[in-house]
Amino acid sequence: MTTLDLLDSPWPNGAARDDAGEMLLAGVPVTRLANEYGTPAYLIDETCFRENARSFVAEFTEAFIAIGSQADVYYASKALLTKAIARWAHEEELHLDTASGGELAVALAGGMPAAHIALHGNNKSDDEIAAALEVGVGRIVVDSLPEIERVAQAAAACGVVAPVMLRLTTGVHAGWHEFISTAHEDQKFGLSITSAPGEAYSPAMTALLRILELPSLRLVGLHSHIGSQIANTAGFVEAARAVLRIRADLVRRTGFLCEEIDLGGGYGIAYLPDETPLTPGEIAPTLAQAIAAACVELDTPVPHVSIEPGRAIVGPAGITLYTVGTIKPVTVSGADGETFTRRYVSVDGGMSDNIRPALYGAKYHAELANRVSTATPVLARVVGKHCESGDIIIDEIWLPGDVCAGDLLAVAATGAYGRSMASNYNLLLRPPVIAVRDGDARVLLRRETVADLLALDEGVGQ
Ligand SMILES: *Cc1c(COP(=O)(O)O)cnc(C)c1O
Repeated sequence: MTTLDLLDSPWPNGAARDDAGEMLLAGVPVTRLANEYGTPAYLIDETCFRENARSFVAEFTEAFIAIGSQADVYYASKALLTKAIARWAHEEELHLDTASGGELAVALAGGMPAAHIALHGNNKSDDEIAAALEVGVGRIVVDSLPEIERVAQAAAACGVVAPVMLRLTTGVHAGWHEFISTAHEDQKFGLSITSAPGEAYSPAMTALLRILELPSLRLVGLHSHIGSQIANTAGFVEAARAVLRIRADLVRRTGFLCEEIDLGGGYGIAYLPDETPLTPGEIAPTLAQAIAAACVELDTPVPHVSIEPGRAIVGPAGITLYTVGTIKPVTVSGADGETFTRRYVSVDGGMSDNIRPALYGAKYHAELANRVSTATPVLARVVGKHCESGDIIIDEIWLPGDVCAGDLLAVAATGAYGRSMASNYNLLLRPPVIAVRDGDARVLLRRETVADLLALDEGVGQ
């Protein structure tokens, strides 16, 4: 009888090692997955995804019922979306955010009810707006004055009233470990809640007044999304207070009370072993109490609240499995003039399946997955196989000194923004997404093939 050693964060809940030291996910040994599906491969611990979803739904529901309100959790599908994932989200009572016609189509194909879907985007096409109205999405989050007119005209043309939220720019911007609050935000999203000098209305208030004038639009709420990989609640609280102020201001000016506020996503996760992000159980009560207090101050009823976590639901549930190839020791001189050896460990993927390190210096954790080793650790850099020296997955990590070609390397917490941001750079074939659950694996997205590449290519012409 094998006993299993469960692995800690940042590994998924279902990651473990058996007696022999091999890594398993949801009971399936990684060597079996590598043999069956090849590498690189994105592995998703389905139970972990569902537990993360359930935790958000349960904690936010409880905390908001306690203040006499309600909460909905929208899964931000840009983090990772397949038909099966849309289905899991629906089964776990998540709603779903989309930001394109493609995401909308996959969400619907997976069985997410249109009424539970939101359409976002700062530059929605006519086709995207028409598709959203045709299927009857629950909300379109409008992002500019021209878009208000376009959605109103499209809705009038279909003979429907479009439910819309307005995306606000609150001046709060948050990221890992900090948030900043500025009067104005120099960015493409939303409408500012701050009036320019000499203007009676802020851009947001002007937009809200216009929405209320248009009979083919129904204003269902106010929206704010302040950033990503946020480690504390201060930014969310600050943004919620700003949204509630403009909601109260709208009541004073027009008597219209927005039923709902949406506070967006951005909840941080652990990428490295020493990181301890806030849990939904810590975030939800803090937010609920801050909202309740602000509503008392502003003398307005508490709103219905929605949030939009993407990364925090799917990120921790995913790992990427690679096969190690070329290993090259390079002698480097350090800042103090001393020389040391850095071991370049190449894997069979790279920046095409995980662009985040190259794009914004994101850090990841990896372990030898097919075995454990007692060899002395060496300073390594995990790199891909692309024609770019910046094709680095992990800049610095201690790996066992005997890591060799043919070993399997697992990178943790790659469930979000790995496959969804993947490219075909160097015409590499995008890896499959494999769901693992209770000892079984199944393909959610198959690996691309050379035939897929050739099928898109219209040929050499005459
Ligand atoms: C990206 C995004 C999210 C999700 O962000 P995470 O960091 O994945 O939680 C939610 N809402 C909007 C509007 C977004 O653009």
